[in-house]
Amino acid sequence: MPEPSDSDRRKAARLTPDIATTLLIDCVELGYDIQLKCQYCGHDRTWGRRQMLGAKLRKVLAWPLDRVQRALVCPINGCKGPMPILRLMRGGYQDGFDRADVRRRRAWLIETLLDEGIMPNDVGLTSDILR
Ligand SMILES: [Zn+2]
Repeated sequence: MPEPSDSDRRKAARLTPDIATTLLIDCVELGYDIQLKCQYCGHDRTWGRRQMLGAKLRKVLAWPLDRVQRALVCPINGCKGPMPILRLMRGGYQDGFDRADVRRRRAWLIETLLDEGIMPNDVGLTSDILR
């Protein structure tokens, strides 16, 4: 089988417009995990809430996923392949409230960020909704 071309790889990594513009913080709010698969060596990994709120990713929580994708390289030494294939998956978190309730969900998100020592303002959120 021939090596995929750069254009094949771009095509494989292309995100639908709704996913491309979803922010990383939205994934936390909506209870999604992110699955990443390297197009060069096949290494796959999943970011759950813990990773997204962790030291490395908290700086990019306000980024849309297409920007996150473009900034990523494979973590495997000797690979470092760019543009992983990115998919969203339902995380199966039991947070004790109905995610369809936007107000409750946002209040939960702000509380969760503050618990992690992340200022909601730093990721583009205000706490107005709590007032
Ligand atoms: Zn790789």
